[in-house]
Amino acid sequence: MTKNLELLNQRGRSASGLDRVIISPATEKIIACVQDADEKKVNSAVSDAQEAFPLWASKSPAERAGLLFSWANLIEENSARLALLESKNTGKPLKLSQDGDLPFAVDNLRFFASAARVLEAPASAEYATGYLSFLKREPIGPIALITPWNYPLMMAVWKLAPALAAGNSCVIKPAELTPLTTLEIAKLALKAGIPEGVINVVLGGEETGKILTTHPAIKMISFTGDTETGRKIMSQASRTVKRLHLELGGKAPFIVFDDAHLSAAVQGAVVGSFVNAGQDCTASTRLYIHKKVFDRFVTDFLKETKKIKLGLFDNPQTDMGPLISAERRSQVEGFLERAKNVEILCGGDRPSNLKSGFFLNPTVILKAAQNSELVQKEIFGPVVCLLPFKDEAEAVQLANDVEYGLAASVWTSNAQRALRVSSALRFGTVWINDHLPLASETPHGGFNQSGFGKDLSLQALEEFTVVKHVMADMTGDARKPWHYTAFGKK
Ligand code: NAD
Repeated sequence: MTKNLELLNQRGRSASGLDRVIISPATEKIIACVQDADEKKVNSAVSDAQEAFPLWASKSPAERAGLLFSWANLIEENSARLALLESKNTGKPLKLSQDGDLPFAVDNLRFFASAARVLEAPASAEYATGYLSFLKREPIGPIALITPWNYPLMMAVWKLAPALAAGNSCVIKPAELTPLTTLEIAKLALKAGIPEGVINVVLGGEETGKILTTHPAIKMISFTGDTETGRKIMSQASRTVKRLHLELGGKAPFIVFDDAHLSAAVQGAVVGSFVNAGQDCTASTRLYIHKKVFDRFVTDFLKETKKIKLGLFDNPQTDMGPLISAERRSQVEGFLERAKNVEILCGGDRPSNLKSGFFLNPTVILKAAQNSELVQKEIFGPVVCLLPFKDEAEAVQLANDVEYGLAASVWTSNAQRALRVSSALRFGTVWINDHLPLASETPHGGFNQSGFGKDLSLQALEEFTVVKHVMADMTGDARKPWHYTAFGKK
């Protein structure tokens, strides 16, 4: 890990003026002070990663796996503390961090520790007479990892685990609002025996991100965040032609046919739309319901939505926390203020019983136009639009009619229809009769403007490698035919 690890609870302003306070969005109280990394600190982190790279890359897969397993064990042992810190920093209910994010992150890490040992390269063969060709998968070099604030610890693990398993060293920059658990797991990595310099953490926002992603020694950028930021990163990476892995925004459709198990679909839609206060790139944001069951679905969905309890993360009754910041809440409210000719069935306002925190009530909207920004743009908050459709062709057409392509779901009891629709949907993940679940073995990544490359699965491990072709002469003949024909000799 790192000489550059920022100190927590470093109160007061520094000479550089780079101090940043970290606020709990549920209480609006300061929970930590950290420092943004300036150019000097970023350069120093990258140079530590460069120095550590050959050592880490030359470790056997078994050695790397062993260290990653030790790290996973330490994270698991500390999971109660980490879950609490994650919930404090994001405001999300503790049950979500404790029973969801932490166990999944530990499992992800163990999966990639094992995968390090079974990385496959394509065949070795004598493709040209007298030569043996073999193809190797090699680590790429120091990699910049940039993560968002919605699942800070899990997103850090999704990137660090495959990058390290494949033999790369890293500089990770967590989102400026939520750096705390990334700092903690980086400390645990050092304790687990992962050598200094293999994981480096730099803190800060866009400025730090720009310095990191334009650094010539960084060979690849793996980024999760907004599509607009992804576009900027593509351009920042272009000057030094860096490899890119982009996990960007989403606007998931949720299609319910009239033969679906309706109460399961309603329950799936409530969770899919409002988990993590809708701040989920795969959140179901557009519910397309067959017109025959539309009214019934709306009534039942509304009834279930109204049961959602907002509150503080450490209250076991809390289902939904606040948005991540005052600014993000204003942005979500902006969508609602600009909406025209819609019917807001519930929500759209702040809860009157919570005096602090960036809360917004779960919001259900009818009659949004397909071409309106409510249906086309990622809102990233607890806002969902319900829209009717008349037949399968129309459902597919409406679902595909956005610039994003991350995730979608189809709900039906007709197996052939489920397969037909899943095939027609242009999204990286399509669920049948569910919405949201993922496993360490399953690739997660977007089509279209939701980005390219995969998180999770063996595909993610391969993202962090580059294929090398080694071609060896097997004849020992200095007078190979092509050497002479190329220059016209006999
Ligand atoms: P964001 O794009 O604002 O920020 C993401 C990260 O990029 C942060 O660490 C930020 O500091 C950094 N950053 C900002 N500008 C940068 C620049 N010019 N150069 C380098 N780094 C820069 O996103 P966010 O608001 O933190 O997260 C929400 C977004 O993340 C949503 O769009 C959501 O859909 C997306 N997301 C996608 C996935 C996925 O798997 N596809 C998963 C989670 C979140």
